[in-house]
Amino acid sequence: MTDDLAERIAKGERRALARAVTLVESTRADHQAQAAVLLERLRGLNRQALRIGLSGTPGVGKSTFIEAFGMALVKAGLRVAVLAVDPSSARSGGSILGDKTRMDLLSREPGAFIRPSPSSAALGGVARRTREAIALCEAANFDVVLIETVGVGQSETMVAQMCDLFVLILAPAGGDELQGVKRGIMEMADLILINKADGDLKATATRTVADYAGALRLLRKRPQDPEGFPKALAVSAVEGTGLEQAWDEMQTLATWRRDTGHWDRTRAEQAAHWFEYEVREGLLARLREDEDVKSAMAEMAHAVAQGQATPTAAARTILERLA
Ligand code: GDP
Repeated sequence: MTDDLAERIAKGERRALARAVTLVESTRADHQAQAAVLLERLRGLNRQALRIGLSGTPGVGKSTFIEAFGMALVKAGLRVAVLAVDPSSARSGGSILGDKTRMDLLSREPGAFIRPSPSSAALGGVARRTREAIALCEAANFDVVLIETVGVGQSETMVAQMCDLFVLILAPAGGDELQGVKRGIMEMADLILINKADGDLKATATRTVADYAGALRLLRKRPQDPEGFPKALAVSAVEGTGLEQAWDEMQTLATWRRDTGHWDRTRAEQAAHWFEYEVREGLLARLREDEDVKSAMAEMAHAVAQGQATPTAAARTILERLA
């Protein structure tokens, strides 16, 4: 089964890719075992896409942008995959990309693959699913993988840690709102796109670009950036303006990072990070499998909260059970 699926994915068949993503999303043990075999088999292909993370608060125009940007890339002959990361979807019942009317044009392109966020609850599960779905898209010979996430909580950091480029999409706004973007998020961005630079909002967008360009210059220079990066640009997803420049900037940055070794180094660091993460998650899951340990953990958590034990001492009593 996995042999056939691997072969079809390697040929770039979208239906096979969709089935494989369903396997990595499944919580069934037999599906997970199949997914592991499949991923191991496909790893040997050694294919890499340009992984671009896109973040922004709801309403900023992410899906409009991805549709227009994705269409431009497809027209340029590139194969484009879009994955959504929305850990909140389980709680809210909604899901980004869940609405069928979104990305209507792109979803009809043979060169595109679009996958909404699954309604799996925990961030941990979302992280693994997204990483594995990215790997599957790369094996299926996609040139660009766009990973969309809502601008809340830890999901942005998580996505940034699995991407080659991280793009923040913002709306035109006065100086006050600059404060609203957390410094940590600004520091992760390679490119800040001020969307909706059209009509009445155009002038505000131009000012907002200048504000962010100024704010970016104040950040500490990162070794993985050539001169002039990170950058802020104005775009209009609706009018399609600025998209070509945004793509040019992304390619300039990606090429520079490839040539200077930062690309490989970052990917290696990311892999090491996710390895540790998996070990940590796996240990916790294993601890919780044992009902005694599970109740001891609940007890200790309570004791710690009540100030009856220090976190360190409480953790030690749990970890002693591992030996
Ligand atoms: P998301 O929640 O971030 O995915 O945002 P959407 O793509 O759903 O867009 C939210 C709203 O902003 C919609 O009404 C869009 O039509 C509108 N919008 C998106 N991009 C632009 C743009 O470039 N210019 C203008 N004027 N409106 C836009």
